[in-house]
Amino acid sequence: MAKSCTNHAEAAAVTMCTQCHKPICQSCTMVTPAGRFCSSECSILYKEMKTKLGAGEGRKRGGFGLTLIFFVLLLVAGAFGVHFAARAKQDEPDHWLKKIDVIGRWLDQGKK
Ligand SMILES: [Zn+2]
Ligand SMILES: [Zn+2]
Repeated sequence: MAKSCTNHAEAAAVTMCTQCHKPICQSCTMVTPAGRFCSSECSILYKEMKTKLGAGEGRKRGGFGLTLIFFVLLLVAGAFGVHFAARAKQDEPDHWLKKIDVIGRWLDQGKK
């Protein structure tokens, strides 16, 4: 019933390769801190895969930070846009832009 080794049909598999999942016998097993492999190629492939995954996560985190900065900049730019648009409507004191001009209100408070 036991699976036999990929390299030795007569030997029973004791484990399988962490990278390619082939059944392997005791003498074929390469034990490394990362897992058990059928060959050094597989252990290298596995390490490369892990490194790539790690780098991918790093990029994702960096991307999120950049998105956050971009979003904040967009908000600030929007607030300034409203402020300058509201200033352009000086002759209309009840203009709707004046009601949402956060920066204008903040500046007026500072003057008092
Ligand atoms: Zn393998
Ligand atoms: Zn073997």
